[in-house]
Amino acid sequence: MLMFAVDPRTVLLVCAALNLLLAGMLILVSMQAPNVKGVRQWALADLCMGLSMALGSQVQYPASPIYAIIGAIFLGLSVGLVYTGVLAFKGERVRRWIPALVAGAILFNNYIFGIIYFNAQIRISVNFMIVGGIYAICARALFIRIEQPLRTAYWLAAGSMGLFSLIAIARIITVLNSPAQDVSMFTTSGINPLVLLFTTLLQMSMSFAFILLVNYTLSHQLNELATTDALTGLLNRRNLETLANRQLTHSKRTGESLAIMMIDVDHFKRINDQYGHQAGDEVLRRLAGLMQSIVRGNDYLARYGGEEFCILLPATTEGQAYVLAERLRRLYAELIVPWQHHALGGTISIGIADSNGDAEDIPTLIAHADLALYDAKRRGRDQVITYTEYASELVRTKSHADAPDHAK
Ligand code: GH3
Ligand code: MG
Ligand code: MG
Repeated sequence: MLMFAVDPRTVLLVCAALNLLLAGMLILVSMQAPNVKGVRQWALADLCMGLSMALGSQVQYPASPIYAIIGAIFLGLSVGLVYTGVLAFKGERVRRWIPALVAGAILFNNYIFGIIYFNAQIRISVNFMIVGGIYAICARALFIRIEQPLRTAYWLAAGSMGLFSLIAIARIITVLNSPAQDVSMFTTSGINPLVLLFTTLLQMSMSFAFILLVNYTLSHQLNELATTDALTGLLNRRNLETLANRQLTHSKRTGESLAIMMIDVDHFKRINDQYGHQAGDEVLRRLAGLMQSIVRGNDYLARYGGEEFCILLPATTEGQAYVLAERLRRLYAELIVPWQHHALGGTISIGIADSNGDAEDIPTLIAHADLALYDAKRRGRDQVITYTEYASELVRTKSHADAPDHAK
């Protein structure tokens, strides 16, 4: 069995100091990331854990119960704060009395079985049951499917807490099966040294996971800001262009057609002028929602500019896109957006192009869809025009203009 070369009390003191350092670090992190919730609770949890370990290192049962009692209060507060931190981080409702309740429960247990009816086995088992149980609940809350790299941090925190709970169970079983004089945290026989070592290490890895959680959440938020449009939640123009270039390369390789749809709200300025900018914003959000409801999972939706949207349709021809565009045009024409005491309505115009023609790159493809869109506007709005239709019309009018007068 593993033997500590140093006194367990020293281990506890060192870990206490490390926890206090981690608390300071989490406080700095929380100041840097005020919009990530839960970090202050975790910082306070580390502070309480540090104090609890420092006090715990001085305990001599039953000679110095005061250290044990105050240490127990800090332990309970720490575990409760970790839990409320997890709730806050996940955006769930935080009940502020939870840390006090956990601290109260642990205090009660240590007072009753540490002072009134001295029984180390029950006292230690109940302590581990409370702490292990709450960490198990936290682990369950963080062990969820989420995109990378957030998953690494979620699962590291969940794994640390889950493992802590398993060690707590092992500790309870051994405590209940050991002679009373051998169950103290400082006993250097049996699994005790391992329990002390692993629980303190897991405590640290939990704090590291919290720092990672904040770090990854911030970079995730930054990425969202850089790639999506804040008003509609759709992709922004820059992100669309990057994705479109990638998709075009893929389409060229597979020989599939890539279609692009440019959508512009007709007379949008009137909505702004008549009902205000906020009403205009609401109309844009509703149009974005409508588009989202009719496209397939592998299509890309973007807000291209003010009231102009773009849909990128992989493995789709101009003709197939036309069917979808017509549906969208009709649905939007029927859409009524309630705004204050008004019912806002309107129409959209759509231009479509695909990569089967002479468009070699994305800027050309977008320019083609744009030409078709402006042709739709020119022809009276509320319609869908394809680039092919626009180009053939152009050829026809041109040949008409070039023809000798007697042929007209
Ligand atoms: P057309 O039928 O020719 O497209 O007419 P229009 O009025 O829609 O055309 P125009 O492109 O001239 O007007 C676009 C307007 O969209 C101008 C601008 O004030 C408004 N706009 C741009 N971005 C936003 C936004 O984020 N919110 C709101 N509410 N309005 C916006
Ligand atoms: Mg417009
Ligand atoms: Mg416009």
